[in-house]
Amino acid sequence: MRKFASLTFILIAIFLIQCSSVPMSDRSQLSLISNDKIFPMSFEQYEQVKRESKIVTGTDEARMVKRVGTRIQRAVEQYFNDQGQGNYLADYQWEFNLIKNDSTVNAWCMPGGKVAFYTGIMPICKDELGVAVVMGHEIAHAIANHGRERISQGYAAQFGLSAVSIILTGGSGGPSIPAELIMQGAGAATSLGILAFSRKHESEADKLGLYFMAMAGYNPQEAPKFWERMSANSGGEAPPEFVSTHPSHDTRIADLKANMPKAMEYYKASN
Ligand SMILES: [Zn+2]
Repeated sequence: MRKFASLTFILIAIFLIQCSSVPMSDRSQLSLISNDKIFPMSFEQYEQVKRESKIVTGTDEARMVKRVGTRIQRAVEQYFNDQGQGNYLADYQWEFNLIKNDSTVNAWCMPGGKVAFYTGIMPICKDELGVAVVMGHEIAHAIANHGRERISQGYAAQFGLSAVSIILTGGSGGPSIPAELIMQGAGAATSLGILAFSRKHESEADKLGLYFMAMAGYNPQEAPKFWERMSANSGGEAPPEFVSTHPSHDTRIADLKANMPKAMEYYKASN
């Protein structure tokens, strides 16, 4: 019994150690795998996506995606530096690309800051402010490290304690975790860009995204209008994938309104 109790204690301690807190949120998240394992994999996969897709360059839309991404990235970096937390972003390698695919109404961000927009979402974005709403949301997924959390949760669920021991002994210098195992843990067969985030992650990305666009000087009051357009677009029985895993429309609008006063503070401070 005593042995059991101490084992439990050790396991709880391991999980406490392997948790980190989400920036600008009071939530703590499971983080069994370190950024230096996940980010290089993510960067490699992003290069593969770029090789296999038609990346749009030289158009107003392509320039806009890069411009908005860089502007929000810099505002977020400034914020973290001001908070004395500049180190948090040290391993990120931001990149913002537009992929030619008019029928895909989607955007995503791989761990470590690799963002892709599809041309299919651009008409719903409508203008630079709309791009900033989506960009803020995607950058928020990266900053809150939802990809790492999703993979860690997948690990804990699928492999249980053996996964924890593999990960704990697989630190720098130890045996490395095969990429397939990481993908299996992520529940993703092919790409870190199509991780299925939970509603909780999506709501958190909405909130932080609202703050991030505001910090970059984009009026956050545009966000509810963008989601109205997205909702109207998905009118039929099959919503576009960008919406299907996200909170219901009414919940999302109510949450955005609740977070708006704080976002407006950031927006005013940005000017
Ligand atoms: Zn999302």
